[in-house]
Amino acid sequence: RIVYLNGEFLPFAEAKVPVMDRGFLFADGIYEVSAVLDGHLVDNAAHLARLDRSLGEIGIRNPHDAAEWERLQLDLVRRNGLTEGLVYMQVTRGVFERDFGFPPADTSPTVMMFTQAKTVAANPLAEKGARIITVEDLRWKRRDIKSVALLAQVLAKQQAVEAGVSEAWMVEDGAVTEGSSSTAFVITADRTLVTRPLSTALLPGITRASVLRLAAEADLRIEERLITVAEAQAAAEAFYTSASSFVMPVIEIDGNRIGDGRPGPLTRRLRELYLELARAG
Ligand code: PMP
Repeated sequence: RIVYLNGEFLPFAEAKVPVMDRGFLFADGIYEVSAVLDGHLVDNAAHLARLDRSLGEIGIRNPHDAAEWERLQLDLVRRNGLTEGLVYMQVTRGVFERDFGFPPADTSPTVMMFTQAKTVAANPLAEKGARIITVEDLRWKRRDIKSVALLAQVLAKQQAVEAGVSEAWMVEDGAVTEGSSSTAFVITADRTLVTRPLSTALLPGITRASVLRLAAEADLRIEERLITVAEAQAAAEAFYTSASSFVMPVIEIDGNRIGDGRPGPLTRRLRELYLELARAG
């Protein structure tokens, strides 16, 4: 497996980062994940735009323009012989003597990318549907930034693992913010697709945006508003979205069956529409 690190393509074991890297010391960095399907990148322009925004919000200069990023991503995909899976990208504020304030402006960001082979299209979980739990949202107030500081999400996902389910939806003031690594949606009995409006309380999901654009084709109205835990548990259909899971049907929330306990028809339709889009590149 080949990794990209600071301008070089290296075997995994040779790709090393100094202990004074600010990503390691402070989680002072951001990341992105794009899916790869049939050898091409999915929704990649939007992922690279969000990467640029995340960097801007924390004052790290973007080391590459979008065309350069994409060239590096595709080069890495090719070197790894990847046809389906993920490309992970990370940029930290670089290496400097430990001090909370920023290092000198000429400090180079640390840039790293790796690929992961994964079945994203014919995912058996999408056929069966995912069971999920709700947990308290323990995160900071700038969740719109795709920061590598993911401890709250790690703890949320571990609660899901220990409960034997696939995802945890995080809850603040009685309403779902988002999944530990996904955007939360419900569909009401009158064909309304509901998801939380964008704000600093959640990540602006790239798959979320694509699914909202596809809603009309599935004959769904859209409402961007808060979803209470009680509404989610009693929803006609529910699903979550991310670059790695696309549109993932939810069949159980906190032990409450959603619909008839199988992926809902409108959710399945949205997954099909998204797959068509993803395949088209
Ligand atoms: N919210 C959080 C907290 C996430 O980690 C992710 C996955 N990156 C998402 C939402 C989904 O975003 P996207 O569709 O851009 O992968």
